[in-house]
Amino acid sequence: MSERAEKTEINYSFKCPICNEGKIEISKVTYDVPDGDKILIIKFECNLCNYSNNDIIPLTTNFTPGIMKLKVSNEDDLKSKIYRSPVGSLEIPELELVVNPGPRADFYYTNVEGILFRFENAVSIYRKNLEKDDAQIKEIDKILKDLGKALKGEFKFTLVITDTGGGSYIIPNDKAKYSFEKFESKELN
Ligand SMILES: [Zn+2]
Repeated sequence: MSERAEKTEINYSFKCPICNEGKIEISKVTYDVPDGDKILIIKFECNLCNYSNNDIIPLTTNFTPGIMKLKVSNEDDLKSKIYRSPVGSLEIPELELVVNPGPRADFYYTNVEGILFRFENAVSIYRKNLEKDDAQIKEIDKILKDLGKALKGEFKFTLVITDTGGGSYIIPNDKAKYSFEKFESKELN
């Protein structure tokens, strides 16, 4: 994380639910989001296996509505963190992928890579249920191929979150690739 992240505490110790041997370390980080709000990220990490999990608590709720864009062109960008609020829509135009507003818990807090994995999984399941001669298959295979490349940082795309209520945000690994466009109040009416 950036120099603006402030590590407040690291401690202890409960048993890892995955490997049953490691200890889970809990760390809490307060982070200043680009528009001036604060969030608390709680990270759970096993010291033996790869298990880790995040929880996030907004410390201020007055996020600014607008359109957030992140240009993704390498593996480093895939680690940028994403929080989509229930009123935010998430889109990757180059991959024809859209998540509409709604309470989909698994999209609440993740990184770009996590979003691509979920899309890949959903598209694969959709493809399996199609008839062999379905006209959509060609197009879907193209999307799956591009998704595979994207997961290796070899496909350039833009991740767009449109949030009319505020509350969504992107924490970019590379700030130069992030842009935020505030809604004028007339656009909200
Ligand atoms: Zn473990």
